[in-house]
Amino acid sequence: MAFKALNLSENVLRGVQAAGYTDPTPIQLRAIPVVLGGGDLIASAQTGTGKTAAFALPVLTRLGQHGRARVLVLEPTRELAAQVETAFRDFARFTDIRTVAVFGGVGYGAQRSDLKRGVDIIVATPGRLVDYLKTGEISLRDITILILDEVDRMLDMGFLPVVKDIIARCPKERQTLFFSATVPPEIAAVASFALRNPARVECGVARSVTASVNHALYPVAADQKFELLEALLAKTDFDSVLVFSRTKHGADKIARRLKSANHSVAVLHANRSQNQRIEALAGFKSGKYEVMVATDIAARGIDVAGVSHVINYDVPEKPEDYVHRIGRTGRAQAVGDAFTLVTPENANDIRDIQRFIGAKIPELRLEGFPYRAFVARTEEPQQQRGRGSLPGQIRHKGSFNRFRGRR
Ligand code: AMP
Repeated sequence: MAFKALNLSENVLRGVQAAGYTDPTPIQLRAIPVVLGGGDLIASAQTGTGKTAAFALPVLTRLGQHGRARVLVLEPTRELAAQVETAFRDFARFTDIRTVAVFGGVGYGAQRSDLKRGVDIIVATPGRLVDYLKTGEISLRDITILILDEVDRMLDMGFLPVVKDIIARCPKERQTLFFSATVPPEIAAVASFALRNPARVECGVARSVTASVNHALYPVAADQKFELLEALLAKTDFDSVLVFSRTKHGADKIARRLKSANHSVAVLHANRSQNQRIEALAGFKSGKYEVMVATDIAARGIDVAGVSHVINYDVPEKPEDYVHRIGRTGRAQAVGDAFTLVTPENANDIRDIQRFIGAKIPELRLEGFPYRAFVARTEEPQQQRGRGSLPGQIRHKGSFNRFRGRR
């Protein structure tokens, strides 16, 4: 089915066309009619499914033309706020609808002048929005559509009290949309006071990982992790690699060591200034940096076309983070590889991840790597290749085979 059949306005359809989209994704097919119909919605969909357009296109159609500030979109991170505002602006390019991104870490000047000019859509992180609510520069009295994006992460980051306060400041007569990769009970609780008879749209991918991604676990002793990372980078043909660290300090350390090994590296974590983050992301997108080392929160929702590899230097703390991290590669049908370095202490985390995604991840051994220590396998090879296994066709340069023997 084409976008044409979805009752979007002519100007919005032109925007979709200009964005180069031909067919709607499943979440777009299901959510757009609900949003156009004016109903409330809880949608479980992770980034990479096309969820931004799933709410942006019908919302722009409903707005029609420039008027008062009628739409508020809340985002957990600055990067997401910037990215979603850009998407709205792109889709709205054949309308006179105005948007603003409101987030911290940058000066108030540009945001203030946009607000003064008058905007229809405000895409904001909760903290900076509250600043403007206090000074009266933003009023929510005309909001008719409230969108909470990545609600699970927003609550994880401790935004619940401020989000509740923001919801309470919006007019009661409004349309409310929740988008979240997972819908744990805390979200259901917020939904019960924020939403009215919401339709539920589940994309069936909330727990799955993109089929176009090849996954592999690389067991290794903790003291050889960095060596293995370097060896993997050396033996892999990659366009751009996202390396995940559990901690900010760890991310800095990995980046330093990769730099001294002559890789061009960007770092993205919450302790970096907004300008450093913007530079890192822009440099990674443009190809100036071939590797970006990031923490989970900083990388959440980041849309970088052409990430060919994700390497989990540290196993993610929560199983859903595995899905989010891997969602950075293999987007829009591109094939990507996802490697996870696993130390013996991670055995339980890996079991939880495999249970969460409902599939076994093949365990590999990098041929020719000078493994110093015995690393226990978590599964037998036959079991890994059984039904429900994820594809593991990893392409390495030089001699490299899937581990077969027993130690
Ligand atoms: P999102 O889940 O909103 O972060 O979108 C993920 C990526 O898919 C973005 O790069 C979008 O530009 C792209 N995308 C979204 N919808 C479509 C579509 N219908 N056709 C092609 N690409 C799309």
